[in-house]
Amino acid sequence: MIKSLFKTLYRSMTIGRNGIDDIVKFQFYFLIILVILDIFVDSYIVGLLQLITMITIGFRFMSKNLYKRVKENQIFNDIRYGIFSPFKNIIRRVKDRKHLYKKCSCGTTIKTPLPKKIGIKHTTCPNCGKRNKIIALRKKKV
Ligand SMILES: [Zn+2]
Repeated sequence: MIKSLFKTLYRSMTIGRNGIDDIVKFQFYFLIILVILDIFVDSYIVGLLQLITMITIGFRFMSKNLYKRVKENQIFNDIRYGIFSPFKNIIRRVKDRKHLYKKCSCGTTIKTPLPKKIGIKHTTCPNCGKRNKIIALRKKKV
């Protein structure tokens, strides 16, 4: 009941407006960091940054110029992608708990399934045919 009331209220507030996009989300997290920082640092600059962030969040949220806001959001996403794309492979490898990765001397990355026991494993590079040694510190869960 209350949840649907909030939903209809939110919809009626955001019709024809920008609402929450990626920049607003980022600004919101930035604001949380500033609020936490404000506890430890006694500076008027932090308070001023909080105020500016809150005003820009409100401005972006209520803005009716959707074309400009979407364009700004695209630029923001391009910058974000440029910053985080070099770490994408590393993050994917850390998350992948079922494979081992080894970079061959020819530049190819070899991906093999986890072995049945911990120890040294040998694989052949599909690109140059060189035999590579992989030290497996994890084993396949049975
Ligand atoms: Zn190779």
